[in-house]
Amino acid sequence: MKIAVLPGDGIGPEIVAQAVKVLEALRSDGLKIEMEHAHIGGAGYDAAQDPLPEATLKLAQESDAVLLGAVGGYQYDNLPRPMRPEQGLLRIRKGLGLFANLRPAMVYPELVNSSSLKPELVSGLDIMILRELTGDIYFGQPRGIRTLDNGERQGFDTMHYSESEIRRVAHVGFQIAMKRNKKMCSVDKANVLDTSMFWREIVTEVAKEYPEVELSHMYVDNAAMQLVRAPKQFDVILTGNIFGDILSDEASMLTGSIGMLPSASLDANNKGLYEPCHGSAPDIAGKDIANPLATILSVAMMMRYTFAREDIAQRIETAVRKTLQQGLRTGDIAEAGMPKIGCKAMGDAVVAAL
Ligand code: NAD
Repeated sequence: MKIAVLPGDGIGPEIVAQAVKVLEALRSDGLKIEMEHAHIGGAGYDAAQDPLPEATLKLAQESDAVLLGAVGGYQYDNLPRPMRPEQGLLRIRKGLGLFANLRPAMVYPELVNSSSLKPELVSGLDIMILRELTGDIYFGQPRGIRTLDNGERQGFDTMHYSESEIRRVAHVGFQIAMKRNKKMCSVDKANVLDTSMFWREIVTEVAKEYPEVELSHMYVDNAAMQLVRAPKQFDVILTGNIFGDILSDEASMLTGSIGMLPSASLDANNKGLYEPCHGSAPDIAGKDIANPLATILSVAMMMRYTFAREDIAQRIETAVRKTLQQGLRTGDIAEAGMPKIGCKAMGDAVVAAL
């Protein structure tokens, strides 16, 4: 297992160090894991005046998987756009051809009171949102701001999805559903958008190859409502780039804390980039108070999706759950009156539980 480790900025190095401890523990148990570190984001700019130094992209391309912390920091806010930390992230996703973004929204029984919804609505929640990551209105051309014949200015973007783009992400969705509860809801806006009508047609065609999976379709406005009304009705949600951007953030809040949410972005061969959903949290960087669990859970996803080691994925997830059961909490997930532990101590606790 060749893993490129890119800690990035802010709390990135602290949280990634805890995930690396977990990987080292697995290595001392006999797993053949190779890790190499490189810079990305502001750290890439500091080291090589580039948020994605060439050496970093090369390392990522030569590795089976990438573990990333987060990028961004106040000191980089005034750099010209191509030099800004988030460009490193966009470029590495593009450079690796990562088109399928997986974001689980799961509620741990111990954290059920952290959700913004009533416990009975979210207890046991386990949704997987699959968002297409490289197409849609975010990348469609032409786009821009133009002046019309009548002299009025107009902003415009173009939404499109090609058949191959829809097919490949639909296949990923059905394959994930096969490993879960075999239910997939494809979310679109087919009552208004031609792109969505086409999306629905192709997803329905691909579904014929997966007769065991129960496919449903839902309009995005209804999906946004159902996610806060009765979120447990969902298993896998498949959707395009813009709808997925919004729905995955909405779903993440059902779980209560951004510090618990892992993510995976996959290419056509299950090579992946794994990172927490949160950012670099510069407000708490260097204080040893960040929650490393989202990053550690991203390693579990890496074992499941890139290395096809469901056993190890479950071992890591069980270790995280045991740590929570022991009442151990970082500040972001502690209920009032609960003692809090630091980032390193949480990493050590997970390794011990492992
Ligand atoms: P953020 O996710 O970094 O932080 C939002 C809030 O959540 C902050 O109060 C932070 O302290 C808290 N938080 C985040 N992760 C936490 C953790 N693991 N444990 C405990 N608390 C945690 O979002 P932001 O403040 O909007 O952005 C900060 C920087 O991160 C910006 O430069 C932004 O561009 C960047 N960013 C990067 C990514 C990424 O690397 N994928 C994603 C989002 C934002």
